Amino acid sequence: MKAHDGMYIDGAWRPAAGRDTIAVVNPVDEQVIAQVPAGTAEDVDAAVRAARAALPGWAATAPAERAARIAALRDVLVARKDEIAATVTAELGAPLPFSQLVHAGVPVLVAGSYAELAASYAFEEKVGNSTVYAEPVGVVGAITPWNYPLHQIVAKVAPALAAGCTVVLKPAEDTPLTAQLFAEAVDEAGVPAGVFNLVTGLGPVAGQALAEHDGVDLVSFTGSTAVGRRIGATAGAAVKRVALELGGKSANVILPSADLAKAVGVGVANVMGNSGQTCSAWTRMLVHTSRYDEAVALAAEAAAKYGDRIGPLVNAKQHARVRGYIEKGVAEGARLVAGGAEAPREQGYFVSPTVFADVTPEMTIAQEEIFGPVVSLIRYEDEDDALRIANGTVYGLAGAVWAGDDAEAVAFARRMDTGQVDINGGRFNPLAPFGGYKQSGVGRELGSHGLAEYLQTKSLQF
Ligand code: NAP
Ligand code: MG
Repeated sequence: MKAHDGMYIDGAWRPAAGRDTIAVVNPVDEQVIAQVPAGTAEDVDAAVRAARAALPGWAATAPAERAARIAALRDVLVARKDEIAATVTAELGAPLPFSQLVHAGVPVLVAGSYAELAASYAFEEKVGNSTVYAEPVGVVGAITPWNYPLHQIVAKVAPALAAGCTVVLKPAEDTPLTAQLFAEAVDEAGVPAGVFNLVTGLGPVAGQALAEHDGVDLVSFTGSTAVGRRIGATAGAAVKRVALELGGKSANVILPSADLAKAVGVGVANVMGNSGQTCSAWTRMLVHTSRYDEAVALAAEAAAKYGDRIGPLVNAKQHARVRGYIEKGVAEGARLVAGGAEAPREQGYFVSPTVFADVTPEMTIAQEEIFGPVVSLIRYEDEDDALRIANGTVYGLAGAVWAGDDAEAVAFARRMDTGQVDINGGRFNPLAPFGGYKQSGVGRELGSHGLAEYLQTKSLQF
């Protein structure tokens, strides 16, 4: 795999300040495929200075021209989609068809949506005797995880550029090659020097330096709740804006009137996609007691069909962590009906598609984010019981409701403490706001709501 040995700062690849590197590992065969520089506070400082210097010019650039650069960026992502998919597959381990469809495909949709929004958004509004301007927040420090390595970058950088902000990105240490490809794409799209900057490195070093930097006006973070909490505290102390997209433990609620086979099939697929490494995955399946046994059989069958078609987990640490959760599930009395903690292959960080039955709402596997291909089937007695279970975690990121008709599902969904719900298998919408209630986060990404995160208002009275 191609790798840059520098940082992308102020429109060029520059040598890193230090000599440390990060080894990039292919999770399928555990081989080192590349080395990238491990950035330090010095690299972060250079990148923030470049972003600050570029801010006035980019903020003053007409929205139509900003839109044209984002459209050009989308076009580069389209032209280089095969290279992007191959890179994500190499460093994340996702099967190539999934990388092509989702990891390379979704960022094109999101970049395209912001090319349109940048051109059409009302950055100026009349309110009575005032004119209200939506102005860029300033320099954005973006910190992203590895599970959707390009999507999570584009979901921050595209709206930030549309708003007129400049950006310093610290991507996940496990997936820096995708981030380097993205920096190449930004360069090719003709985005002016300093508007986007990339510093690869470790979270507690480069990530922390970015979150703490005085020259950053907004920290936008996606990742674990533990790190998000710290970043929120740091930003709060500095009176800095912060956006947090954190974990989830979402419920797939199957009401008695639903098409059970469809709801279970789609539900299992939702968890197994990306090997369960999706923050919004519906990892708890809630089934009425009258149809519970049937649902368990269907889920076990659906998981078995996945066999070894799913990719590995991203790294050895996640591999150990997910297998530990499966052991804990067994120890707490849940019943394994598919998969298990045993590694299905000698090499690579693989975990078998796993289904637990007889899971009770308070078990660890029903409360904590596992981030692996594990789904838990929980029994409920009536709708109020289902709602209590669905809302009974610290998280509130996503969910699904299945019923005989949409109106019945909507009535239930409106009572859920969660940021987005798919009704009877609703499709992904790149314009719908994405983000969490409760400890799943602060703020929203995607669409016009995602753009608004990067804007602040100024009112002039006449
Ligand atoms: P993480 O540590 O929160 O990683 C997210 C990003 O934050 C990475 O770029 C990381 O850098 C960086 N980071 C780490 N410590 C930091 C610090 N002190 N200051 C600033 N930035 C820091 O997540 P993880 O360790 O990769 O995964 C652990 C768990 O988090 C998973 O099992 C899963 O439950 C959850 N997770 C959730 C999401 C989501 O989309 N909600 C995504 C990923 C993980 P490094 O890459 O160097 O660590
Ligand atoms: Mg980490």
